[in-house]
Amino acid sequence: MKPIEEIRKDFPILERKINGKPLIYFDNAATSQTPVQVINSIVHYYSFLNANIHRGVHTLSQEATDAYEKARVKLQRHFNAKKSSEIIFTSGTTEAINLVANGYASILTEGDEIIISASEHHSNIVPWQFACERSGAILKVIPMDKKGILDLNAFDKLLTNRTKLVCVQHVSNALGNIHPIEIIIEKAHERGAVVLVDGAQSSPHIQADVQALDVDFYVVSAHKMYGPTGVGILYGKEELLNKLPPYQGGGEMIKEVRFEASTYADLPHKFEAGTPNICGGIAFGSAIDYIHELGIENIANYEHKLLEYATQKLKTIDGIEIYGDDNLSKRTAVISFNLKGIHPYDVGTILDKLGIAVRTGHHCVQPIMQFYGISGTIRVSFAVYNTFEEIDFLIESLKKAQMMLQ
Ligand SMILES: *Cc1c(COP(=O)(O)O)cnc(C)c1O
Repeated sequence: MKPIEEIRKDFPILERKINGKPLIYFDNAATSQTPVQVINSIVHYYSFLNANIHRGVHTLSQEATDAYEKARVKLQRHFNAKKSSEIIFTSGTTEAINLVANGYASILTEGDEIIISASEHHSNIVPWQFACERSGAILKVIPMDKKGILDLNAFDKLLTNRTKLVCVQHVSNALGNIHPIEIIIEKAHERGAVVLVDGAQSSPHIQADVQALDVDFYVVSAHKMYGPTGVGILYGKEELLNKLPPYQGGGEMIKEVRFEASTYADLPHKFEAGTPNICGGIAFGSAIDYIHELGIENIANYEHKLLEYATQKLKTIDGIEIYGDDNLSKRTAVISFNLKGIHPYDVGTILDKLGIAVRTGHHCVQPIMQFYGISGTIRVSFAVYNTFEEIDFLIESLKKAQMMLQ
């Protein structure tokens, strides 16, 4: 991998000052920053390629279509899907899950069961609650222990012949825990259930191979993978996507429209009604190129060193409580913690004055906070452009905040 100083030059935002201090960006689990290679592809699109796709006979439309479909193929190759038509562009993870949940709401019947985990992001809880309300299906939850580790024995007991879907995250956005999705997929398949994996938090760090995993649906957002906001994908097995009813009606998703009834287009267009985020899709392809240029394993190895260093340093702070799996090899570079007797929001506010961006609050996972009996945590999450010096400054600043607030 090229040196970190060179990588940092790819990210213009890292030149910014926040409250007069150099920006230290530790909120990568919420959204990652965007390299100039991706920014350039956005500028290039609107400067030279902008046209609606799949419609015009004119050259510009064909060039825009080619660029968009090329991006789809990049994503297919990256996740090792069998066919590019199994890659559906969505506005992100949330929309991808809603697309699948909405379809299953009309397939499931009363008494069917959906299993999620105690660690899910709200976007992998609420759509399934909607699906249960509409179909009469029942939602069940895999419990976790104090370290956020899922209880697989309990999962065994939750699985029944009525289990139709198992929907779990690959990595926890609140704690950074990497869940054993390989085992979960295998056990679910033994019972004939379909598995959706929320890869929003794993995709920037772990190479997922959807065929090797034999996962049925895998969903990600570009903006956590050095890409733009407003775009993501749903990977689904062709056979399952064909069975799923369309999500939205409109242009592009139809074969033939009559007032009596319409017929739907083939995959992937059946799920891509209306004019999509063309530029976003193309820029997502550029973000994948960027990840490949650095190497996803190199990125993860470097981030892991940051995780180990920061964890060891944080542990020297009095009254700190760190959540999540102690075994750092089972975590991505996310650290969630609290300082005894101090509200996370107050710490976040002081860090912001010093130019440090961290996340405070429930991180869209209120059930985890309820589980710990806390209102929220302070979360730092690393990306490939973060440095050991930035961590040193964080530790110094946390100690300062602690003195001011105690
Ligand atoms: C960010 C995130 C989501 C939601 O992604 P959006 O881009 O907001 O749609 C879902 N699940 C996990 C684990 C996440 O980290």
